[in-house]
Amino acid sequence: MLPRDKQRRTTHYNSSLEKAMSHSEAKQFYQRQRAEMLESPTLTKTRTLSSNVATDATATSPLNPLRASKSNTSLQANDATYKSALSVGVATPAKPPTSADVQTPALGHVDAVRSLAAHQNDAPSPLMQADRDARAHQNHPNLPHEQKPFLEQQGLHGAGAGVGLGSGSGGFAVDDSKVTAELTSIYSNIQKVLDLRHKYMRLSLQGATDNPKDEPGWTIYPPHPDPSWQDYESNMTESQHLKTPRRRPRKMGQNIGEDFELDDLMPLPGPGEMAFRLDPNGVYQVYENNKAAELDTPIVHIPTIREFYMDLDAILTVSSDGPSKSFAFRRLQYLEGKFNLYILLNEYQEIADTKAVPHRDFYNVRKVDTHVHHSACMNQKHLLRFIKSKMKKSPNEVVLYRDGKHLTLREVFESINLTAYDLSIDTLDMHAHTDSFHRFDKFNLKYNPVGESRLRTIFLKTDNYIHGRYLAEITKEVIADLEASKYQMVEWRISIYGRDLEEWDKLAAWVVDNKLYSPNVRWLIQIPRLYDVYKSSNLMENFEQVIQNVFQPLFEVTQDPTSHPKLHIFLQRVIGFDSVDDESKTERRIYRKFPLPKEWSTGQNPPYSYWIYYLFANISSLNVWRKQRGFSTFLLRPHCGEAGDTDHLAAAVLCCHSISHGLLLRKVPLLQYIFYLEQIGVAMSPLSNNALFLAYERNPFLLYFRRGLNVSLSTDDPLQFAFTKEPLIEEYAVAAQIYKLSAVDMCELAKHSVIQSGFEHSVKQRWLGHNYSLPGVAGNDMAKVNVPNIREAFRHETWLQELAMYANLPNGRNSPTFTDFPL
Ligand SMILES: [Zn+2]
Repeated sequence: MLPRDKQRRTTHYNSSLEKAMSHSEAKQFYQRQRAEMLESPTLTKTRTLSSNVATDATATSPLNPLRASKSNTSLQANDATYKSALSVGVATPAKPPTSADVQTPALGHVDAVRSLAAHQNDAPSPLMQADRDARAHQNHPNLPHEQKPFLEQQGLHGAGAGVGLGSGSGGFAVDDSKVTAELTSIYSNIQKVLDLRHKYMRLSLQGATDNPKDEPGWTIYPPHPDPSWQDYESNMTESQHLKTPRRRPRKMGQNIGEDFELDDLMPLPGPGEMAFRLDPNGVYQVYENNKAAELDTPIVHIPTIREFYMDLDAILTVSSDGPSKSFAFRRLQYLEGKFNLYILLNEYQEIADTKAVPHRDFYNVRKVDTHVHHSACMNQKHLLRFIKSKMKKSPNEVVLYRDGKHLTLREVFESINLTAYDLSIDTLDMHAHTDSFHRFDKFNLKYNPVGESRLRTIFLKTDNYIHGRYLAEITKEVIADLEASKYQMVEWRISIYGRDLEEWDKLAAWVVDNKLYSPNVRWLIQIPRLYDVYKSSNLMENFEQVIQNVFQPLFEVTQDPTSHPKLHIFLQRVIGFDSVDDESKTERRIYRKFPLPKEWSTGQNPPYSYWIYYLFANISSLNVWRKQRGFSTFLLRPHCGEAGDTDHLAAAVLCCHSISHGLLLRKVPLLQYIFYLEQIGVAMSPLSNNALFLAYERNPFLLYFRRGLNVSLSTDDPLQFAFTKEPLIEEYAVAAQIYKLSAVDMCELAKHSVIQSGFEHSVKQRWLGHNYSLPGVAGNDMAKVNVPNIREAFRHETWLQELAMYANLPNGRNSPTFTDFPL
């Protein structure tokens, strides 16, 4: 800087002060402080936040790591490896992961030094003592002032925030009894919703440990490639164990499907003993044997449609209850504020922690595209290239049979007056950016290349004259790109319409015969809610036929896999079910009087909740049977809360493992709060929403993320929304630019996406670390996920504190509910 550029000091401007406050100065200040800490040997142990916290926790007393560390001083003092500093405002991550105790947070470097002496005398730290004194009732008898026992536990000392309840002046309660009564009723309301969800999840076996494919002995065929260069040692021992000659592994990104041989999977399991039949209520029931079927005693009691609507009503009542609603609203705001405060205090520490992790960065942590439709999984340029190459290489191939005539590709293009040269992204016209906002109908038309449903049938359908060969070829190209990228995985949704019983076999044959098998891909079945369309074209009489067409083949193949061999094999790669259509269509409410499926013969489409119930009920029965047979089970992961009524979300709380979109949670604080408490996954696609329902800057994604909801980023329809070759990275990139996400935020989102996904437990262990399913820091392997332990500790501690409120209910359970559903 030249002397002439130096600003003079004025009343309003002080250059030296500004310099002291500048970003780089702050960093240096911080780094100096950290260096000092590293030199102080007595504190080394508390700062060790290696990924092996679990072992640390057993070595030291969890509640008083400082004292325990004293004896280890000599061992730790010369350890030159990187040590993270204590996070500020977060309890020590060394706490055992299973502990439900809410802990007094550690107070950072300076206080830790002071409190060391205090701990030795078993006296509370002077700061804590002062804080307590200031709050003590007896010291201020004349002040309008109530006790805030929560505040201390929340790790926000001196913030004066309390739990934000009460109707007196300044939000304070008039007296304690009022608070207690009001809180008790709110707590029991929330507990009621949680209990309902737990009941439904348990019944349908959608819990974290229910799926047989997550058990240790499950074989994934074809096997995933071995890790390339990490874990040398474990790899070596493993290969020494496996003396069996394995086929040479396929090179990822090439010869897709070459490692899949149908014969390797033979023989299939034979028929089982149990029987099944469709009951009069439209739900398939499974019976121990034929005798039980005669007596009508199914192996599991599925809630009837009436029970379902009563439970749904209970949730809706709570979600619209005034006090509960504002309680949830305040808790969510509190969670958001707490996160912001945490970031302010720990930002540099997080950066330092991620820098200390070798090799890992955002680009090589695993990310799963948790919501993407298979028929829109390629980008436009790719589809265009593919269509052009087909026109050039095989114009005389017969691709379509229409109106009694066989048509070649050339003839098809002649009939729509197009040549290969004419084709461009603009003529293809599949982008949905400007003209489809709030027009889902228009968006659906965008699936047709050049606006021609003929081209959609030829290129984007599995069931057509060429048996979906073109779609299979382009799918393999997309798989090759995914495998080459190595760190990007997808869960593709593919349709079963429920129009006839053959659909499942055709789809399974398409996947198996074309060998669409890749370690980067799993499938979800999407069921479009199109009953009204089939009815109006006289395809069926009543709704029960849809249920039959969708579920009967699944029950048959579970009873006897040899009855539909390819379907049985395909189902091992199917994670679950999705339900899709335009949610913004109006639904007529005829509560509690819904006719049964066999009587649903009007031309009107059943409402969302009705569809979800019948999917849920039939999946539940199927899952119980499949688990008993040792086959993989399914999750219900529908599109929900993209538009339309908020009762869609209530149905999701009750029946669904996780959802896609969830935009409307922003309007229902109580349900949003339940989504937080239960850590229900939400796969969000802000770019897709931006084109269809909600402008990007108004998307609640960032809000949810800060509040600690289990959100992930997904692409929805790359064909319509993406511009680049890597749509998932594009989604992350835009979010990072608009929302100013840090590298840590992006890695945390990527980690969420893997946890939400339906990949097998053993695969997730490889991607996230062996203990990933443990809660909090114990499950966080920084070397794999690149999320700092302090972030994970903050999230987990905050969550436990929130759950602890319900565990402390006078007539509530003793242990928090999180043991049932770890994140
Ligand atoms: Zn979608």
